[in-house]
This record gives sequence, C-alpha cells and structure tokens, in this order.
Amino acid sequence: MKLTILGSGSPEAYARRASSGFLLEVGSDRILFDCGGGVVDNLIRSGRLPKDITHLFFTHYHSDHMMDYARLVHAAWDEGALPLKVFGPNPLAKITDGYFGRDGVLNNDLRARTELPQSQQVWVARGGTLPRPWPAPEVTEITAGFTYQGDGWQLVSANATHAQPILDCLGFSVVAGGKKFVYSGDTAINSEITALSRDADLLLHWCYRGAGERLHPALQAFSPDPGEVADMAQSVGVKRLLLSHFRVHMDSAEGHQKALDDMSARFQGVAGIVEDLDVFDI
Ligand SMILES: [Zn+2]
Repeated sequence: MKLTILGSGSPEAYARRASSGFLLEVGSDRILFDCGGGVVDNLIRSGRLPKDITHLFFTHYHSDHMMDYARLVHAAWDEGALPLKVFGPNPLAKITDGYFGRDGVLNNDLRARTELPQSQQVWVARGGTLPRPWPAPEVTEITAGFTYQGDGWQLVSANATHAQPILDCLGFSVVAGGKKFVYSGDTAINSEITALSRDADLLLHWCYRGAGERLHPALQAFSPDPGEVADMAQSVGVKRLLLSHFRVHMDSAEGHQKALDDMSARFQGVAGIVEDLDVFDI
C-alpha cells in the first residue's frame, strides 16, 4: 500500500495544509479518505487526476472533510470517468443529491453542459458520446462494522467519537498484503478505534491539540494530545504513528518538537507529523 497525504490541516484557511484528505493506493484501486477543501488541488499536484480515484470513504461531514466532494465528482465526470464509488455515514445520499440531483445546486451548470449544443460539441470533441449523462456517483451509506472487499484489500469501519449526535463519525482500517493501515478520522480515544488500531503497521491519527494545550472542557475530552494518542498506539502494538489535522498555531518548531518528544517518550514505534504531499509505503 502507498499512502499520500493530500490534506493534513483543519478547517482554517492555511496555505501549508489543505483540509483532510488521504490517498491510499492498493492494487488497481485508488482510495480517497475524506475530501476537504484543497484536496483536489493536492491530488493534481501529486500527479494524479480526479478520474483516477476509484473509491471515496467519508469519516463524517464536517466541512473540512467534504468541501471538495462536489469538485472531485464533477471534475472526474468531466474527464469521462466511470461513476465514483462513494461510502460514508448518513446522510450521504441527501448530500450527493443536494449537489447532483435534478434539483441540486449544480443543476443549472449540469443542464448547460449537457443540453447546450456548444457544450455538447466540446464533450464530443473530447471523445464523449451523446446524450451526455449527469454525474451519478454510486452512493452507499454505511455504519460501524461495515466491511468492503476491494482489489486485494479489505476495509472495516468503526465508530469514532467526535460530533455525535448531529454527525455520525467513523474511522477505517484497510488490510492488504499482510499489512494494516488505520485512519482514525476525528475522534476521542475510544475503545472501538483503539481495537481497530491493534497491530496497525501505520496509524494515521487526528490531532487537534498541542501537547499541554487547554481547550474548552467539552472539546478537550474529545481531542487527545500527541502523548495521549501515543499511549493508545503503544497499548495496541502500532508500529508507525502519524499525526495529522494540525492547526496553524500548532506548527511552530517548538510545538512540533514537543509533540515528537511526547510521542517518543510514550510510544516505542516510529512517530511523526505529516505534511501535505508526504508519501509513505506500508
Ligand atoms: Zn476535521
């Protein structure tokens, strides 16, 4: 498996980090986890195109995990891709229909592109055929315990603890070729994501709080700091731990050093902080 970081940031506007998005390449499949703002730009910077994505899995629908969803689907459609397979919690079907349904917010754009003769001519000149269909991602709403078999890989979902009851939130594991990748999503340390992380070769975990940083009590309990994530990873035999979802103020040299020191003191595997466009072999 090959992991490419397409967005390692948060909702904050930040040139260094796009919002959350992670590409996992296994066999002939290219699996995207989350699709926050800026992820499509980084996908293109990484040398791929929107049409290259075969599967998209959403952990939850905070904006920083989905703002480039419509852009990805629309761009892949315009490149003539097969319909994207999209998986995520309820209400994925409603969100997708809100963008791409006949009465969706993009309906004027889609009508113009499919009905105007000049637009049809552009489409045909690029190798398309008429009538031009609308984008139609294949949507599957999922819950914890969902399993999926891809081309040589198996995915499992588990409950993340983050923004319930308004948002259902998940994390995912993928096993392929005897290796295990886990993406926590945004979550407190909970028993389900901890169990999902057992013996992971690479655990990609969110981190929204610097070492020792105080947040609102309600948020603090749901936002493990680097040392707390390291404790969890150590408890279940994770081999490599990577933190993502950093905010602007967490990116000082001192902040990174403190996070790395806290992790290495409490975790015996390899630990790090990801940056956009980093690549990891698993
Ligand atoms: Zn987030």
